[in-house]
Amino acid sequence: MRSVKGTRDLLPPETAVWQWVEATARRVFAGYGYGEVRTPALEPTELFVRGVGEATDIVGKQMYTFADRKGRSLTLRPEGTAPVARAVVQHGLAHGPLPLKLFYIGSHFRYERPQKGRYREFHQIGAELIGDPGPHSDAEVIAMLVRFLDELGFSDLVVLLNTVGDERSRAGFREALVEYLAPRRAELSAESRRRLEDNPLRILDTKSRRERRLLEGAPRLDDHLTQESRVHFDELRGLLDRLGVAYRREPRLVRGLDYYTRTVFEIVSEGLGAQDPLDGRGRKVGLVEERGGEDLPGIGFAIGEDRLVEVLPEASRERALPPAPDVVIPAGEVGAGGALVLAEELRRAGAGVVAELGGRSLRAALKQASRSGARHALLLGDEELAAGVVTVKDLETGEQRQIAREEVARWLTAGG
Ligand code: AMP
Repeated sequence: MRSVKGTRDLLPPETAVWQWVEATARRVFAGYGYGEVRTPALEPTELFVRGVGEATDIVGKQMYTFADRKGRSLTLRPEGTAPVARAVVQHGLAHGPLPLKLFYIGSHFRYERPQKGRYREFHQIGAELIGDPGPHSDAEVIAMLVRFLDELGFSDLVVLLNTVGDERSRAGFREALVEYLAPRRAELSAESRRRLEDNPLRILDTKSRRERRLLEGAPRLDDHLTQESRVHFDELRGLLDRLGVAYRREPRLVRGLDYYTRTVFEIVSEGLGAQDPLDGRGRKVGLVEERGGEDLPGIGFAIGEDRLVEVLPEASRERALPPAPDVVIPAGEVGAGGALVLAEELRRAGAGVVAELGGRSLRAALKQASRSGARHALLLGDEELAAGVVTVKDLETGEQRQIAREEVARWLTAGG
């Protein structure tokens, strides 16, 4: 039996890298006042149909949806924002002080064609700030994401920044865009023709060169921005300047989902050489209705953790791997039991050691300990046992010394 197509097992030592990435997220986000939410992987299908939008690829073709034994339609979460919004409403979290600052880390599921870097079960690290419409919240969320990526070791981070305006800005723009594209429909791909009907802004996202050329003459969203949206965006840019966050205006950057409003962003690491964004997202409305039906605005992001781990700089990867523990090797009558007891004694005293239990010869055990990356081998033979000492061998220099049994842990934890 093999794992389901598009899913995979994460194994040691690679899992140590994942743990380090997640620990860094937890530490950085906590520093900005964020708390972790853990929502179920399983939600009512309706949550995503309403929250993400029927016209999106996610809802249209990528959801793992099934009827449970009582015929209820359930879906494995394809994204994290709608579940967080549901939890906020369900638990009345927005009745407390605002803004709410929440982050999540976990598996998400989309039925996509598996290819390099794309999985059917994938992992996202996301954050949502809910309940404050001001540009300072946008600035702080973006700064937090940059800080996180910086601490992961990514260099030359640049925020690609745009505004898609508010609903009024977008409605005017959408109309102008459709008016421009409709007579040119024949030059569009089948996909874009479909989008022209249900989600014309998404056409701006196109990768096709021909369509990009066609769009050069298209109306610009900027010309449709309301005064409020323009002020919001200018203030955000001023704040990012003051925070020392590098950004670049990217007018083509749009987010297809209807709930995006105003600020949208992506972050690229120019140090990576690749132009693929590490992540992006933006400000949204219409997800959390609380306080008497009042709509709470939010801003957030969701990073694909699979990709983050794949492109993690080598130096960070090395930092993430825990140091190999020293190895207690038994000799003679002492046996595995004696090694087990000494190892437990040393661990209790705070040293990082494992016992050699494989019944290997002394030579083979030393070789294996070296290969594991351990710094010391702790040899316990009959003589050592009788004398109450341990022979500590430095696996790099080959140097050996005898240390009183009760002093070993202190000697090791002091750095050897
Ligand atoms: P999205 O919710 O589509 O904006 O995706 C947010 C992030 O999740 C992206 O930057 C991707 O890195 C990641 N992601 C989305 N779908 C997948 C997938 N099928 N496999 C791996 N990563 C994914």
